[in-house]
Amino acid sequence: MIETPSAAAPLATRAARETGPRVSGSEANPSKLVQVQGLGKTYQRARGALTLFEDLNLEVEPGEMVAIVGQSGAGKSTLLHILGALDTPSAGTVYCAATNVAKLSAKEAAAFRNREIGYVWQFHYLLPEFTALENVAMPLLLRDSSWQEAQREAMRWLREVGLEQRAEHRAGELSGGEQQRVALARSLITQPRLLLADEPTGDLDGQTADSVFELIARLHRECQLTSLIATHNLAFARRCQRVLRLKDGRVEEVAPKELRV
Ligand code: ADP
Repeated sequence: MIETPSAAAPLATRAARETGPRVSGSEANPSKLVQVQGLGKTYQRARGALTLFEDLNLEVEPGEMVAIVGQSGAGKSTLLHILGALDTPSAGTVYCAATNVAKLSAKEAAAFRNREIGYVWQFHYLLPEFTALENVAMPLLLRDSSWQEAQREAMRWLREVGLEQRAEHRAGELSGGEQQRVALARSLITQPRLLLADEPTGDLDGQTADSVFELIARLHRECQLTSLIATHNLAFARRCQRVLRLKDGRVEEVAPKELRV
């Protein structure tokens, strides 16, 4: 069991969230963790503009575990990038964790991500020459935590993902499944409200993918996260509370049980 992130989430962390740079507007509904209205996204490319979304609408309640499915190129990654303030919308409003993400400066966006968002990618993006412990500790060091505190928390998170014995191993020496567990620990060490996972099991073999998905589902519950998981794995999508399919620039809600695996 995790000790701090649930009911006992440190007041200091919550207080930090209250004081972070955020932009509210009259459209923001405080009961939704994610609220997207009329989202448009067009990429200007040398060979012509590519419009991915024209009027995309989406709401997510706190605590929901939501799968995002759709064919390659449907815009799943782009949507997660916009929610995580890694990309900007061309039109519409995007409120994420009470923050109007499109209005953030680059510096505010970085602070927003560090404070509110845990990101897991298909490829782990760990620093291969650094140890598992150092990789997990990194987001806390970016917050100016002391090395001692960051190390203590990183060890606790490595224990949580079952990798305490690998703490001193270089990330580049770990197996694919272990690397993804380390990446998950790194994404959650800051106690984010929202977990954005982009094909988190896409690069893993079947059994390893199962165990990483189980871990995500457990941490989602225990850390009281709100999770959006882009996946091609319909068996995993079926196990989420909601499934949203991206198709032709729109989101359609699909009953998880109706997904054909
Ligand atoms: P998915 O995650 O569903 O596979 P993506 O969001 O990765 O879809 O990509 C959707 C489309 O947008 C793809 O055709 C991709 O090539 C294009 N795209 C993504 N990012 C950019 C970018 N920065 N510039 C131009 N086109 C992009």
